[in-house]
This record gives sequence, structure tokens and C-alpha cells, in this order.
Amino acid sequence: MVVALGGNAILRGKQLNSYADQFENVRRTSRQMAQLVAAGYQLVLTHGNGPQVGNLLIQNEAAADLVPPVPLDVCGAETQGQIGYMIQQSLRNELTALGLTRPVVTLVTQVLVDADDPAFAAPTKPVGPFFPRDVAEQRMRTKGETWTEIDARGWRKLVCSPQPSGIVEADAIHIMVDAGAVVVAGGGGGVPVRRRPDGRLQGLEVVVDKDLAAYRLALEVGAEALLVLTDVPGVAVDFGKPTQRFLRRVTLAELEDHLVREPFSAGSMGPKVRAAYRFVHDGGRQATICALEDALAGLRGDAGTVVERAEGGRR
Ligand code: ADP
Ligand code: MG
Repeated sequence: MVVALGGNAILRGKQLNSYADQFENVRRTSRQMAQLVAAGYQLVLTHGNGPQVGNLLIQNEAAADLVPPVPLDVCGAETQGQIGYMIQQSLRNELTALGLTRPVVTLVTQVLVDADDPAFAAPTKPVGPFFPRDVAEQRMRTKGETWTEIDARGWRKLVCSPQPSGIVEADAIHIMVDAGAVVVAGGGGGVPVRRRPDGRLQGLEVVVDKDLAAYRLALEVGAEALLVLTDVPGVAVDFGKPTQRFLRRVTLAELEDHLVREPFSAGSMGPKVRAAYRFVHDGGRQATICALEDALAGLRGDAGTVVERAEGGRR
């Protein structure tokens, strides 16, 4: 199974992001993941990194006169190690508490993107701290960056968000899963890289959506199911309206109908729905989007929004 952990699995609401808070949340998440291992599932875990990479970028900006700024791809790699460490430690503790022995390993993962992805035409994903207009304008002039005014808090830099076309370390993940390890991989959507015409890989200062990367990961490791864990019970139609209702079991064809009619939010539910759709479309047995607390029930099809090929899971 590939399990995508939402931001709330590590940080919740308006917490101050202290490491004590993060560890407490990771502990909560690890208890859920340990239940899945106890139920016999082989897991590849992936996770978001928004708040963590945001903090690194703030540190970058604040210390620019003291140490050279770290490029976005390297920040992504740093947060994979940082969050991976917290999961390795907590999950190992929770497994031990259940009397289970299982290696938990984090793999710094690179995700391939295509140089001709149309997303490179226009940056859309805000990253880093807010700045006043004059700083944004100066950076646009001197560095050719794209910035946009978000709200009263100010301006943020925008980067491109291309589709994941491959997982560079898929072979290594496979080996570790086959050896019985729980593998943490592709965190923050993976470190985006492109293959240059000479065949060599090169890091890019762009962001791949973590849910779409999870779909790609699930496909490439041959996962049976994709489980996307977040902070709502599932996918709602008419989200936020009086007519709102959560989807339970849907076939690909039904989900296709919804995708045509519903503009699922681009920055949040949209990529989850698309990841679920694509995974099942490309041969996966089941994709579930549900609340973190419902992980096991969701995998069993008893909670959340469950996407299957056809009625009753027939292929
Ligand atoms: P994560 O960190 O898990 O990726 P996101 O904030 O990106 O979390 O996505 C989950 C959020 O998506 C929910 O908290 C909810 O507010 C929002 N959302 C937007 N549209 C929908 C929808 N149609 N159904 C359910 N939730 C939605
Ligand atoms: Mg999200």
C-alpha cells in the first residue's frame, strides 16, 4: 500500500510548529500506521512538507548575509530527512509497543518531471515567506522570479508545479519493501529532477504535488491500494455548500462524472481526487481518501471515499 500523509499528520491547525508539537502529531500518525502493519499491510509512506520547507525558506531569507541560500530542491531533500527521521523513530516505537519488529527506513527520493510539461509555462505554486511589494518587485526585476500578491499579508514567490513522470529510486524502494521494511519515500512530492539531453539528472526549483507524486509512487512500486489521509472524512461534492455530501464508494465512471462537473480545489482536494482516479485508472485495485483516524477502515473500504474500477471492486 502507498499511504500519503497530509500536512495534519505532522502539524495541526495553528500550532507554532515546535518540534515537540510535530513529534506529538507524528506519534499519533505512527500509531495509526502501526495498526496497518499489524493488520498485515506492507507500507510505503509518503508525506507533505509544506510547513517544514516554508520554515527552511524563512531561515534562508533571514540568514542570507551569513550563509549562502539553499536551493529549493536541496530544501526538499532536507525536509525528507527531517520528517523521515521523526517517522522512523516514532513508528519504530509504536511497532515495538505492539511487539512487532520491522525496519523503518527513509529514502531521499527524486521525482522525474518532463522538460516539456506545460506547467513550466507559468508558475502557480506559492512558496516561502510573505514579503512587501517592494521586495517582490526587486526580486522579479533582478532575479527574473515570479511573485504574486496573496492577501493583506503580502507577496509570495511562485514556482512551477509539473506532473511527476517517474520515481528515480523506485527500484530501491521495491528492494526494501520486499525485504520487509516500511519505507518512507517521496516526501513533499519528492525532489523534482529532470533528465538532461545528455542523460544526467539535475535538480529543479519547482514543486511536485505530494498527492500526485503518491499516485506515481503507487504505480511504480506496484501497490495494490493508494490511501490518501487528510483532515476531512472524504471527498465532498458541493463542498462548503448547504447541499454538501461526502462520496462513499464510487466507480471510475462515477468519479469521472464528478470530475467533469466539480471544480475540486486546485491546491487541496483536486490533486487527491486526480491521484485516486489515475491510480485506479492505471490498474490499481483501490484508492481511498479519508481522515487519518479512519486509516484502517478506509483501506478496508469501510470509511472515506473509496474509488474502485467497477461496482464491488470487480476488474
Ligand atoms: P493535506 O495536507 O491533507 O494535503 P489539504 O488542505 O491540501 O490537506 O486538503 C484537505 C482540505 O481540502 C480539507 O481540509 C478541506 O478543507 C479541503 N477541501 C477542498 N475541497 C474539498 C472537497 N470537495 N471535499 C473535501 N474537502 C475539500
Ligand atoms: Mg495538500
